[in-house]
Amino acid sequence: MYAKVIVDISHEKLDRPFTYIIPDHLSSQVEEGTLVEIPFGAGNKIISGYVTEITEGCDYDPAKIKEIKGIVKGSVKADSNLIKLATFIRKTYGSTQINALKTVTPVKKCIRREVNKRVVANMAPDKLYFLAEEASRKHKNAQERLIRELIKYPDISYSFITGKMNVSAQTINALVKNDVIRVETETVYRNPIKVERPDDKIVELSEEQIKIVNDVNTDLKNGIRNTYLIHGITGSGKTEVYMHLIEDRLREGKQAIMLIPEIALTYQNVMRFYARFGDQVSVIHSKMTQGERYDQYLKVKEGKVNIMIGPRSALFTPFDNLGIVIIDEEHESSYKADNMPKYHAREVAEKLCELTDSVLILGSATPSIDSYYKASKGIYKLYKLNSRLTGNTLPKVYVEDMREEYKNGNKSVFSVRLHKLISDRLEKREQIMLFLNRRGISGFVSCRECGEVVKCPHCDVSLSYHRDGMLKCHYCGYEIPFSNECPKCHAQKVKGFKAGTQMIEDFVRKEFPHALTLRMDADSTKKTEDYESILAKFANNEADILIGTQMIVKGHDFKDVTLVGIVAADMALNAEDYRAGERAFQQLVQASGRAGRGENPGEVVIQTYQPDHYAVTYAENQDYEGFYEEEIKYRELMMYPPVGNLLGIQITGDEEKRVEKLSRVVSDMIDKMPEREKIGKIGPANATLSKKCDIYRRVIYIKSYEYEDLIKIKDFIEKETERFKLTKESIMFDFNPMNGF
Ligand code: ADP
Ligand code: ZN
Repeated sequence: MYAKVIVDISHEKLDRPFTYIIPDHLSSQVEEGTLVEIPFGAGNKIISGYVTEITEGCDYDPAKIKEIKGIVKGSVKADSNLIKLATFIRKTYGSTQINALKTVTPVKKCIRREVNKRVVANMAPDKLYFLAEEASRKHKNAQERLIRELIKYPDISYSFITGKMNVSAQTINALVKNDVIRVETETVYRNPIKVERPDDKIVELSEEQIKIVNDVNTDLKNGIRNTYLIHGITGSGKTEVYMHLIEDRLREGKQAIMLIPEIALTYQNVMRFYARFGDQVSVIHSKMTQGERYDQYLKVKEGKVNIMIGPRSALFTPFDNLGIVIIDEEHESSYKADNMPKYHAREVAEKLCELTDSVLILGSATPSIDSYYKASKGIYKLYKLNSRLTGNTLPKVYVEDMREEYKNGNKSVFSVRLHKLISDRLEKREQIMLFLNRRGISGFVSCRECGEVVKCPHCDVSLSYHRDGMLKCHYCGYEIPFSNECPKCHAQKVKGFKAGTQMIEDFVRKEFPHALTLRMDADSTKKTEDYESILAKFANNEADILIGTQMIVKGHDFKDVTLVGIVAADMALNAEDYRAGERAFQQLVQASGRAGRGENPGEVVIQTYQPDHYAVTYAENQDYEGFYEEEIKYRELMMYPPVGNLLGIQITGDEEKRVEKLSRVVSDMIDKMPEREKIGKIGPANATLSKKCDIYRRVIYIKSYEYEDLIKIKDFIEKETERFKLTKESIMFDFNPMNGF
């Protein structure tokens, strides 16, 4: 028997399977997906690799084929569907097979499981009392301490005894020897989220909801596999539909994966699933340790978990009998990987569902233009949930023209209306959320005289002002003291342009000194706990105003919030890529959706210098279809996705001249291809971020109606540039990029 092995060396040239003999003593253990140790190259260096196929015969001279040396100890086998998924990822997004394999196997090693040790008394309290007295007489202080504690609590955790009680393991062992106590161990799964299980109220589905559930189930019964897109505002009952569909799959003995954006992976959201499904739910998230991840993997393998909830990597949960994949908030850009291979979770989920014969459900209040386009073409089945089931109405939205405010002499960050509404809410003791687009960008400083923006010399992004008087770069950490002298024209006119979250908080404190504020941004939420504790405080009414970046708009339900202020919509509107309008619209609608979730109706104030921008006007009216029609016209006109396809090619290196030259060479290569006729080419040009951490970045964009053309171009460039033996420069590909370079 022979095995085809993908070696664990990420290099274009080695990106093909190598054949090895499976020695007899390993024949029962080597399977597709096994991580094996193999001798490689002239020196027979031992390296590892994944078995991707097992064959009986072989085209080579068996005498020249080497043997597999062994199985990597403690390794975790890749599931065969996941291997197929890896192949899909490699082909579709361009990466080496080994990187694709690593992507689909987030858990690679067994990690020793945490053991919960306890010390338990073997004797009744009166006997223990006698022993304690004896220990006291013999001046065995530690022993006495422990026994007296055991009289009160006959079952104490081992670590508490050796830690807080300062009793040594020797002392414990001596008592064990004399049968006074015993040490009990149990293997525990590290549970990433601690829940006490509350009861969930079972609701009766509305007609709209029943229709979706029935349609999906009927299609499945008839052997029809579809993708379903549920377009419904927050609170319209999407999650209830998900839970029903999951329940139906569980009853068939199948499993479910539900993706939610990391940022929405909150206690509140996950609790509903634990409440409904109990312990068969598990969660993974990026802040988990390797050990915690391994435990999740093991629980899945042991059949203890049937529902996995998590961000995009949860797709690679090795279920035996997957039945459904749900992607909530499917428009979120975090579903696109930001490292190579730059896969999109929605596309990979489509493939996974095809491989496993599962059903794919997408849901969003503001579907991605990509998915809505597919629905309009009949590729996805579209469903709408139209009303808020909680009974309350949509908020009233005001758009405030900041140019007018400025003309009228209001130079503060709040329009007259927002200021008035904040006072009003504070008086009524209702809560307020103030939303600012992004840290960093919002803190930039510029010269009022010449317009110069102060930037990082290494990263070419604006530096942002911090309260400690420093200007900082959020990419590389470079910092200089703030000075109001312009580095270019030397006028003393450098000032902050727009406030960051912190400045808004300062401003609020000055204007409304009695208001209690909480701030949530990347700075104040370094750890998950901070993030959750801020949200919990706000939910408990420990503050009147929550100020934050986009993280505060995702999936949290605050019943007492009746006012949402979007302080500067312009920052989203003016981002430099073709999805800016889409993203801005989504953010505005989502932020607005935060107001009036409880009994009192909500109001929303959008402040902007561009009140006529279509993303603003459609968001004002909560008109998704109107926005879609406008946006898709623009995409059609420009051949942008989803109408066309876009390939971003990024060329990077530490020498500007060489990067420039290579980008020209690549560009010329493309010009000579027969596909050139059908495609559009932009660039080469400097990337938006033309220099990051002293690495120069140039980009070329290719547009084409056929995705296949882009794959051909990528393959061609890879093949041609292989001859150059590039060491200092590198070329990266991003298919239908979402976050720009
Ligand atoms: P979404 O996921 O679209 O935000 P949810 O499914 O979370 O919506 O529903 C919003 C609220 O309405 C939840 O509290 C949920 O329990 C409740 N709900 C959902 N469906 C129904 C229903 N058919 N009848 C009554 N309440 C419902
Ligand atoms: Zn920098």
